Amino acid sequence: MGGQASAPLPQRPRAGIEMRGLLDLSLEELAEILTSWGEPPYRARQIWSWVYRRGATTFETMTDLPKALRARLAETFALQTLRPLAERVSQDGWTRKWLFALPDGTEVEAVLMEYTDRRTACVSTQAGCAMGCPFCATGQMGLLRNLTAGEIVEQVLWVARWLAAHGERLTHVVFMGMGEPFANYASTAKALRLLIHPDGLHLGQRRITVSTVGIVPGIRRFAREGWQINLAISLHVATDELRNRLVPINRVYPLRVLMEAVRDYIERTHRRVTFEWVMIRGVNDTPEQAEALVGWIRGMLAHVNLIPLNPTPGFPGEASPPERVEAFRRILEKAGIPCTVRVRRGIDVAAGCGQLRAEVTGRRPRIAGAPLQEVPA
Ligand code: SAH
Ligand code: SF4
Repeated sequence: MGGQASAPLPQRPRAGIEMRGLLDLSLEELAEILTSWGEPPYRARQIWSWVYRRGATTFETMTDLPKALRARLAETFALQTLRPLAERVSQDGWTRKWLFALPDGTEVEAVLMEYTDRRTACVSTQAGCAMGCPFCATGQMGLLRNLTAGEIVEQVLWVARWLAAHGERLTHVVFMGMGEPFANYASTAKALRLLIHPDGLHLGQRRITVSTVGIVPGIRRFAREGWQINLAISLHVATDELRNRLVPINRVYPLRVLMEAVRDYIERTHRRVTFEWVMIRGVNDTPEQAEALVGWIRGMLAHVNLIPLNPTPGFPGEASPPERVEAFRRILEKAGIPCTVRVRRGIDVAAGCGQLRAEVTGRRPRIAGAPLQEVPA
């Protein structure tokens, strides 16, 4: 993504709620609309190149398109719909989080996590979430609405443009922000197709990860897509009774059903799955839970990611201390199960999903840390 040329066309008012999002369209859908306008179909690729390669945020800047076409596009399609409400940077400067408003006032979060060798965008698939995991700030707010594919893609583009403006490139995308991707399957799948399209951002499939709480029909559908996109399962608990409480969707898709779907996924795709395990002191960090987990996944093409709980005001649990995390990890290691401990990134920017929105809307006290900057719209 390089710089954008500017063309002096009249400024249009901010895209309204009623306008169709250009980012919601596949290349074929855009070409079809352009053809119905009497335009040659190659214009679709030209527009995509501006949007996905050069980071254009207005049609006015697309200087190799006829002026009349640019005007018609601007009248018809919204291109930039995210309005930043707040931006926060971690004290170490490696994690940056944005809270955005969509034209209808819905708020969503996206995060950039920089590592020495990778630049990862973490994006939301829903505003809020209906799954009700009690330890999760997004779960605590309930579901507001599904995001469209374009609204998901626009978060990725936002981060990619921010990186491009700072001489960096986006390398990875994780669907681990607000919401449950498989409760919004159609938009999630369409967004993924847009992100991996060779004429779009052309992200490597192996550099994208979708995280699900364990919606079995979604896992089964995802397995049949023929992708090499990574799948992460938020397991957190390996016994039904406790999982029913910490991950309530377990009452619909209990462990036996979930693990059968995961095994089928691996058999079909030959891809290694990641099991995420939020470590809550004295709750799910016990040797019994570790042994139960081993019982489910020993010998499976899988990897476990232990994540110390990011405390939220709506949940009384605490993060497991390092020695309990280590003891848990050793049990898995002994059973030959690859396991990593995720570093708690951006705790001072409220990087746990849903936490920045909760703070900005005053549902929780500000965490001490980097100051909240209001970003002009
Ligand atoms: N709904 C999906 C994806 C979004 S949540 C899912 O649940 O997988 C992404 C990850 O963040 C999940 O593993 C989730 O369990 C974890 N998470 C949620 N709240 C957290 C918290 N307070 N501390 C640490 N991890 C949390
Ligand atoms: Fe939803 Fe995931 Fe949070 Fe559970 S952890 S409430 S599924 S976003």
